[in-house]
Amino acid sequence: MAAVVKANGYGLGAVAIARALALAGCRRFFVSRFEEGLELRQEFSGHDIFVLDGIAGIDPEEFQENGLIPVLNHPGDLEAWAGEASRQDRKLEAALHFDTGMARLGLPASLIEVEHFDSLRRFELRYVMSHLACADTSDHELNALQLMRFETIGRAVKGVPLSLANSAGIMLGPRFHFDLCRPGIALYGGNPVPSAPSPLQPVIRLMAPVLQVHEIDRKGSTGYGATFALRPGMRLATIGLGYADGMLRAASNVGHVELDGENLPIAGRISMDLLSLDITNLPAGRLRPGDWVPVIHGDCGIDRWAAAAGTIPYEILTRLGTRLKRHYIPAA
Ligand SMILES: *Cc1c(COP(=O)(O)O)cnc(C)c1O
Repeated sequence: MAAVVKANGYGLGAVAIARALALAGCRRFFVSRFEEGLELRQEFSGHDIFVLDGIAGIDPEEFQENGLIPVLNHPGDLEAWAGEASRQDRKLEAALHFDTGMARLGLPASLIEVEHFDSLRRFELRYVMSHLACADTSDHELNALQLMRFETIGRAVKGVPLSLANSAGIMLGPRFHFDLCRPGIALYGGNPVPSAPSPLQPVIRLMAPVLQVHEIDRKGSTGYGATFALRPGMRLATIGLGYADGMLRAASNVGHVELDGENLPIAGRISMDLLSLDITNLPAGRLRPGDWVPVIHGDCGIDRWAAAAGTIPYEILTRLGTRLKRHYIPAA
């Protein structure tokens, strides 16, 4: 297993997470950007750090000086890294990424047939990898096709360790595992296959403070656009959490928070810094200004918020704002 800690560890803090994973024995990390690799390199000297973006736009010497291993995605990457290797007059570590059907990053699968592929001799190939487009849909025909193409590539580069599966790819079964899996979302408790029950435990909890409680005594509305109608007898809590903190506006009037077994719907539009909860179902006095409400918690986790906002748990995590304080609780 390698851990994918790109995008600041899916929004949760790459360095803190990589530290915990390293303590658990993780030796290999994948990031997307060169700068993300540098940040990790300052913490870890002996660990492998692979940069998925490849070299594009970065001085290859900087990769080499910082001990970052580029994932070479296209012929230009190969050339740049081979050039650096010949300047150094030694082999340089690299991973090769082949496109087996996603048309996003990666060398065309046909390149592998070009046996005279000269620059390969300049590399110490750590992995040959590819990435699945539809792993979260287990019966999608592209999975079998990508697997077949990847197996063909694997035969051609005999002896080089192979890596194909992300979190959802792991769930597709052992044929997809090869020598190295690259889970990301599964490490952070997100369900890689939304159509099936999650086999994973949540790892984050998001709490936000109650700023004000309203006892409604006349008809009215709450929030921008007056989209949520208020009736006498309702109770509302204004929470210090908004879209600037990553609460997607798309969850306005659809998401809910769970407290004491009660569903507390988001009432009205989510604002930049605030949202309103309909707390009518809670006993009076249960929530007061200064109390904390579990917004992402238990069954009301990132998968459910993603469904409410019409997105995926990855987006829920990576949007969590910089203003949120992150506390890391060591594993028991
Ligand atoms: C992001 C990424 C992963 C991890 O994907 P998850 O779905 O989060 O497990 C693995 N490999 C590549 C190439 C990626 O870009």
